[in-house]
Amino acid sequence: MASVPPAQRLPPPHRECGSFADPFQVDPALEAFLQQAAGLLCRWLGQAGHGTPLPGLSVLPMVEPEPAGLGSERLLADLQLVMEGAYNPNHPGAMAHLDPPPLSASIVADLICAGLNNNLLAEELSPSLSRLERALCAWMAGRLGLPEGAGGVAASGGSLSNLMALVTARHRQGLACRGDAVVLCSEEAHVSLMKAMAVMGLPAEALVKLPVTAGGSLEPLALEERLARLDRASIPVIAVVATTGTTVRGALDPLEPIAALCRRYGHWLHVDGAIGAIFAFSERLRPQLGGLGLADSITVNPQKLLGITKTSSLLLLAHPRHLQQAFSTGLPYMEPSWGGGHQGEAGLQGTRPGEILKLWLGLRQLGLEGMAALLDGALARRAELERRLRALGGLTLCSGPLHLLAFRPQGGDGPAAERWSAATRTALLGEQLMLSRPLYRGHHHLKAVLGNPHTASAHLERLALVVQQSLAGPSDS
Ligand SMILES: *Cc1c(COP(=O)(O)O)cnc(C)c1O
Repeated sequence: MASVPPAQRLPPPHRECGSFADPFQVDPALEAFLQQAAGLLCRWLGQAGHGTPLPGLSVLPMVEPEPAGLGSERLLADLQLVMEGAYNPNHPGAMAHLDPPPLSASIVADLICAGLNNNLLAEELSPSLSRLERALCAWMAGRLGLPEGAGGVAASGGSLSNLMALVTARHRQGLACRGDAVVLCSEEAHVSLMKAMAVMGLPAEALVKLPVTAGGSLEPLALEERLARLDRASIPVIAVVATTGTTVRGALDPLEPIAALCRRYGHWLHVDGAIGAIFAFSERLRPQLGGLGLADSITVNPQKLLGITKTSSLLLLAHPRHLQQAFSTGLPYMEPSWGGGHQGEAGLQGTRPGEILKLWLGLRQLGLEGMAALLDGALARRAELERRLRALGGLTLCSGPLHLLAFRPQGGDGPAAERWSAATRTALLGEQLMLSRPLYRGHHHLKAVLGNPHTASAHLERLALVVQQSLAGPSDS
């Protein structure tokens, strides 16, 4: 207090200010609040393995604010109630979705991000974070193989990255006013492309879905034939979307032949690598992902496997200026950018948190070796589960080169697969093992996502045992 001259001393905080951190000294109330909250979170994380991935219905605390504001103790007690009902990605049996446990550095960076409360809309609202985002996007783009000068923006999820990519492609191709333009993708491409069509004012048929191989990858011959037909009919093409890692089985579309076709016709190639592009950091898979560098734009979602806290998606472009050209409005109420442009001009989102902080800190915590180990660990778990399930016999396995594996009993009709998958999922949940139940090629499957580093051999062994019992049981008859 001695360092504050009397003339500047403000009246003691009144009620209204008490909920904000004191800007003149380390705020003891905030420090205590944060420490208690950190304790609560650490206990929740530390009990993860003793509970279940999917808790039962919990009691919700009171929803509406009371007339008088609450103190930290009541707030934390209410938080605890919500936490008790939360999905638990830290449980070793959490294998249902692309929602891994959070990296500790990513948790910390998210907290700091909230405290900084900067805004990626404009540089003057996030000076260091804007530069960090630009620099990290450029680095990531280079690591994925895009040329010098490549870069992009962070986005709140892969759906948004895909949408921004298609709007940019449409603008770049001069097709913004063409209601007859189409986007081509495989029939196993992600549903977010359908949403993009709706937002872009295009009919559902404007998403042309092409057949895939038995392994779930786009058939280049089918693409070639369709592109020639569209060309003869003078139907304009906004973009071809190749998927690097399909949702159910993690199939990879063949990027080189698709890129060659795009080059021949002058089409934009967007790679939806929300799941798979990050495997460019795995020595084992990098050779299969060499074609990423041929893309005009790439979606990558570090939230899906690396443990970067949600949301963390990047849209990377070979020529990031196309993104600005598609979305820039001049931002008339902001100071001009002092280098590189405001991120609020490079994409659809305006106000946006510094999501880049938790990605940057998380990647620095892992290091390149840690990233590779995490990716290779996921691949090894998939290989082990595949081996165990294959040994049971009687299953149709659907997989690809990534860490996803879907399966169902051989033979049987749709209703039988639905009954089996529901009963087996329930039996697995009884063993604290959570799988998802996608409908794929007309049949329900069980799907395991093996990105959880806490999942050990013993869990996969138990999983295989429950599946074995399900094959012998009455539910598949
Ligand atoms: C998850 C996913 C998306 C959408 O990402 P969100 O972050 O959920 O919006 C897009 N494409 C693919 C292939 C995905 O797996």
